[in-house]
Amino acid sequence: MIDTRFNEQKRVLIELLKTKGIKDTSVLNAIMTVPRERFIIPAFMSRAYEDSALPIDDNQTISQPYTVAYMTECLQVKKNDKILEIGTGSGYQAAILSIMGAKIFTIERIQSLYTKSKDLFKQLNLPINSRLSDGTLGWREMGPFDCIIITAGAPDVPNTLLSQLKINGRMIAPIGDRINQDMVLIIRKSESEFEKKVLDKFQFVPLIGKEGWNV
Ligand code: SAM
Repeated sequence: MIDTRFNEQKRVLIELLKTKGIKDTSVLNAIMTVPRERFIIPAFMSRAYEDSALPIDDNQTISQPYTVAYMTECLQVKKNDKILEIGTGSGYQAAILSIMGAKIFTIERIQSLYTKSKDLFKQLNLPINSRLSDGTLGWREMGPFDCIIITAGAPDVPNTLLSQLKINGRMIAPIGDRINQDMVLIIRKSESEFEKKVLDKFQFVPLIGKEGWNV
């Protein structure tokens, strides 16, 4: 059954995202469709459609809707694109990409978040493939990918992930220190050439792993 309680709050959020510069209607439609209230902890239910990051289990966060919209728009997602996400967290970003018709592979390193998001994908009938492991090493058997999205702050772009990107594939990742990062968009131009654009500033929890930060 479709829950209509949040429709007005959703509409207000969509208008806000438009004023902040989000234009892609397929991104805005996905945000209108995915029930963000299901991805947060119940104590924050009334804030589900605020444009803010919220705490989830294990001291992690569900990203701000604007951040999710911005990263998704940058990737120029096409139907049937094969997308690897590093940092499943609540599962919300993966759900947005899945609703847009992409084939999603998402990796989380924390057991409780992996289990909870996997259950939720099933409840919402979202055909998302998820895995518990160090995402900095990618998912080689399922690659190469049209897009890779890293939703935790990395000290540098993991080389292993670059190697799993298709030619003309796009990667979006926040790169910087443990608190502040620049959003970086990378396009693989050939086997050995990558075009890099540095975009706006964001703040993410750290990417912890072999090609990320130490714990
Ligand atoms: N995409 C998420 C969402 O929609 O809720 C938000 C991600 S949260 C800001 C960052 C997540 O990255 C955390 O859940 C964290 O445990 C995870 N993470 C950090 N390092 C990781 C790694 N090496 N591999 C996989 N997940 C990692």
